[in-house]
Amino acid sequence: MEFRTRAIHVGQEPDPTSGAVVPPVHLASTYVLPSATGPADYDYARTGSPTRHAFEAVQASLDGGERAVAYASGMAATHGVTMLLKPGDHLVTGTDIYGGSWRLFNNVLAEQGITVSAVDTTDLEAVRSAIRDETRMLWIEPIGNPLLSVTDVAGCVAIARDAGILLVADNTLATPVLCRPLEAGADIVIHSATKYIGGHSDLLGGVAVARDAELGTRLHWLQNATGGVMGPLESFLCCRGVKTLELRVLAQSATAARLAQWLGQQPGVCRVHYPGLASHPGHAVAQRQFQGGYGAMVSFEIDGDVAAARRVVEETRLFQLAVSLGAVESLIELPAVMSHGAYAPEARRAVGITDGLIRLSVGLEAAADLEADLAAALAAAG
Ligand SMILES: *Cc1c(COP(=O)(O)O)cnc(C)c1O
Repeated sequence: MEFRTRAIHVGQEPDPTSGAVVPPVHLASTYVLPSATGPADYDYARTGSPTRHAFEAVQASLDGGERAVAYASGMAATHGVTMLLKPGDHLVTGTDIYGGSWRLFNNVLAEQGITVSAVDTTDLEAVRSAIRDETRMLWIEPIGNPLLSVTDVAGCVAIARDAGILLVADNTLATPVLCRPLEAGADIVIHSATKYIGGHSDLLGGVAVARDAELGTRLHWLQNATGGVMGPLESFLCCRGVKTLELRVLAQSATAARLAQWLGQQPGVCRVHYPGLASHPGHAVAQRQFQGGYGAMVSFEIDGDVAAARRVVEETRLFQLAVSLGAVESLIELPAVMSHGAYAPEARRAVGITDGLIRLSVGLEAAADLEADLAAALAAAG
């Protein structure tokens, strides 16, 4: 079956007791056992619950993996995957990555004796030369954040295989609609389900999907041992969210492409970062690697100082001033002081996140209304 059909039907069998078309939310924390020692589908909700399993089943299908494990947040998923590492191991990651992942890698893992190297993962030679004898994991974002750099997933698969290390892709921005790293040979994909999967700014969740069952079992074992599971209500909302994932991501990406073009023609705008623009340095890789669009995130810089950028983000009305992304509501923010405040200022500037960079998460509103909103804010900030 095709993606859109699986998104609606996998894990969503009608409830056998009532016939309800939408399976109910199972809130129970514990389950009656058929015998003291025999096997049971469910025993305790940290280990597994029907509602969480429904979401895990559909997400594994959409990403093309053997097993999905749903977590309390995207960071819990990220942490759950890095629990595969031991003291003395080395992790290679990108410079254009989610601010919270940057903090976990550089501040938390480093204290636990796991060393981290951040390199420009759009440069495959730089990735290859960062790998050492102790390297165990390469962590990439196919669409980076906030500069929307494009990392070549197939190129990283080849490097990881040569080195015998795990390749993990945080696919939150691309979603399995546009990009499926497991099909290209990555070992694990993670998503912040808070973003496009939930899609409506009303839940916090994360999910990791493993290409092979053994690795999935190990992730589930670690999760059960440490406890960061997705709750039943969030699991239900994620099942509901994925049913419209393809429609939303395609529509939001089309609007983002239009706004990126339009921004490039505005007199006060000096730089636009969007993988769908021919001028983007990763455009050729993006054309090969993404299907159906180039994502719904756009970032840009304007002429003038940081105060002018601040005025733009404070002047928009439809684009609401907030961190996060991926929902039906459009959002606007300043990464240097908001989403990427966890980077030390020197590190942030060194990787190209300027103080005046503006990031948009393009929602599902009409493109013309969003364009008018930006036009008014740019004029007011002028
Ligand atoms: C938001 C985000 C995360 C973290 O997810 P939470 O649900 O906020 O914990 C990780 N990676 C990326 C790319 C994100 O955008």
